[in-house]
Amino acid sequence: MNARILDLLRRGADELGVDVEAKLPQFGQLLELLQQGNARFNLTALKSEEDIVLKHFVDSLSCLRGGYFTASNRVLDLGTGAGFPTLPLALVRPDLRFTPVDSIRKKIGFVAETARALGLDHVTPLVGRAETLGRQTEHRAAYDRVVVRAVAALPILVELALPLLREGGLLVAQKGPIGEDELNAGRRAAGELGGRVQVVDPFGLPLSGDARTLVVVEKLRPTPEKYPRREGVPNAQPLF
Ligand code: SAM
Repeated sequence: MNARILDLLRRGADELGVDVEAKLPQFGQLLELLQQGNARFNLTALKSEEDIVLKHFVDSLSCLRGGYFTASNRVLDLGTGAGFPTLPLALVRPDLRFTPVDSIRKKIGFVAETARALGLDHVTPLVGRAETLGRQTEHRAAYDRVVVRAVAALPILVELALPLLREGGLLVAQKGPIGEDELNAGRRAAGELGGRVQVVDPFGLPLSGDARTLVVVEKLRPTPEKYPRREGVPNAQPLF
């Protein structure tokens, strides 16, 4: 990473109150691995160093806004793709245990290889669909946090994530600007699945100013057994 790109990362993280100083070499390594991964198979649409640093690294770190993650939390990253937000979060939060999940084997292969190269022993990647994991005793109600970035509309995320959370656990969804209709549908889905939307926090990303919203949903009661519905149904027929 050249000095200008390093400085972007430092300033972006600083603005979020995240200290990346000790981890700058690993962020540089992650950038290289992503670019190599992109050359092998098209992992992410973002190709320039500046875009990767601002729109993947700093954007992922913004999930820490508000302080919703507590030491030793088991965190499932639903639809991690090429490892976002897990990989940047895992670099600065060695105190959390991450399970990045994606249904696409090739993507999880890359995340696993990259986590190994960066020495991230607290990252355990998993191939699977959230609907399937949410019905398995090993994963149902097993996580303290579900984090998600850029996967689906709020009511769909709620149906996929709440079955995986223990009571008292939180879904932390990092989204773009969110309209009242999506928010209301998300609120109704949360009620149906045993939770409640607790926080809606709109903010601008550091440096770019791009609009984001952090939505936090708390699980208050066990999720009814009928959820999640079978694979693909939450997306095809959202609850609300
Ligand atoms: N979170 C990453 C990011 O912010 O760059 C990736 C976002 S990508 C647009 C959405 C990812 O979610 C895809 O890799 C897709 O395979 C995965 N995905 C969508 N629905 C899923 C589900 N039900 N279970 C597991 N993975 C899912």
